Amino acid sequence: MSYDVIVIGLGGMGSAAAYHLVARGQRVLGLEKFGPAHDRGSSHGGSRIIRQSYFEDPAYVPLLLRAYELWDKLATDTGREVYRLTGGLFMGPPDSVTVAGSQRASREWDLPHEMLDAAEIRRRFPTFTPYPGDVALYESKAGFARPEMTVQAHIDLAESAGAELHFGEPLHGWDDTSGGVAVTTERGTYTAGHLVICPGAWAPQLLADFGIPITIERQVLYWFDPVGGTGSFVDHPIFIHEDVEGAQAYGFPAIDGPGGGVKVAFFRKGIVCTPETIDRTVSEQEIVEMRDRVAALLPALAGDCVHTATCMYSNTPDQHFVIARHPDADRITVACGFSGHGFKFVPVVGEILADLAIDGATGHPISLFDPGRLVTT
Ligand SMILES: Cc1cc2nc3c(=O)[nH]c(=O)nc-3n(C[C@H](O)[C@H](O)[C@H](O)COP(=O)(O)OP(=O)(O)OC[C@H]3O[C@@H](n4cnc5c(N)ncnc54)[C@H](O)[C@@H]3O)c2cc1C
Repeated sequence: MSYDVIVIGLGGMGSAAAYHLVARGQRVLGLEKFGPAHDRGSSHGGSRIIRQSYFEDPAYVPLLLRAYELWDKLATDTGREVYRLTGGLFMGPPDSVTVAGSQRASREWDLPHEMLDAAEIRRRFPTFTPYPGDVALYESKAGFARPEMTVQAHIDLAESAGAELHFGEPLHGWDDTSGGVAVTTERGTYTAGHLVICPGAWAPQLLADFGIPITIERQVLYWFDPVGGTGSFVDHPIFIHEDVEGAQAYGFPAIDGPGGGVKVAFFRKGIVCTPETIDRTVSEQEIVEMRDRVAALLPALAGDCVHTATCMYSNTPDQHFVIARHPDADRITVACGFSGHGFKFVPVVGEILADLAIDGATGHPISLFDPGRLVTT
């Protein structure tokens, strides 16, 4: 059977790509190793921060503005609450990456924001006890997306528009010929004019020949039951807090009901692993370290840890994404190396991948994601 485009990996990015491709009239086949919206890659755990005052680099802001439009459209098209705006606090010393970087992006792009000193943080958000000298940038347009719901929404929209999506069918290999790309799985061979590869944490295996250096990191998510109940955490902003050492921790409102806890985690504090070797158990020592860190900022989170989960980051050396047509293989487009901050871009990455696969170029500013900056072989 022949298709216009075959998408490999139907996680966050691949499911969005499949939808945007089929919406633009392409005959699409999607192949996914596991089931729909599974918990063995990078797109699970109930929530992902979304924000616009992007401390990583102001160059991401135009993509975020488009992503927000598409988040809204996805919610409208499916009637599902795939995202929610709660407001967000980006907190730490005034010269920290989190605060100064968010301020820079907000100023450069004229994004609505407020600067709060420690007293003002405590007055407006009494769950917090900021560290001495902390300030915060408050962004009303920050909030969270629901990863599993988003992946399922894109899968459902793609299938109802006519995409053929196969689950439990891993790609084994592909052959790029002058006439097209032939993709093999244990069930057969499929051909297409173009291949879009969104492998998540399997990038080092699937894209080994491309020489893109990506390190896979185990990350842990923790849910703490607040002392005194979840009440004051229901209408609560998302937050990222940076300490004087530059270590960032972040958290969400209580969105899983009574007993569901408040989710918190360290940003970029992981152990190198592979999808095969990742340790899915979380030690008591890890829980204590997380509790000590967040309870110093939010004393109510000194309560019981009710749940944990593990997830993988795919880090590039500079923590910027890789999104491009392959420089030596014009029939192949890749999207990988999302370095722990990709989910908020899912809908716009889907749109970009459709542009690259269909037109060979995109109007979106993606020069930051050129693999040429990283390729070592
Ligand atoms: C703990 C944690 C917290 C995060 N927090 C945030 C956040 O707050 N905000 C934010 O914006 N981002 C966040 N991220 C990052 C974000 O979730 C990821 O960047 C994003 O989910 C990556 O999507 P992906 O499509 O690349 O990977 P995935 O969703 O994992 O998709 C890759 C897919 O490829 C499939 N696959 C692999 N090999 C094959 C094969 N051979 N054949 C077929 N299919 C295959 C896999 O099964 C998988 O489904 C977080 C990530 C983690 C782990």
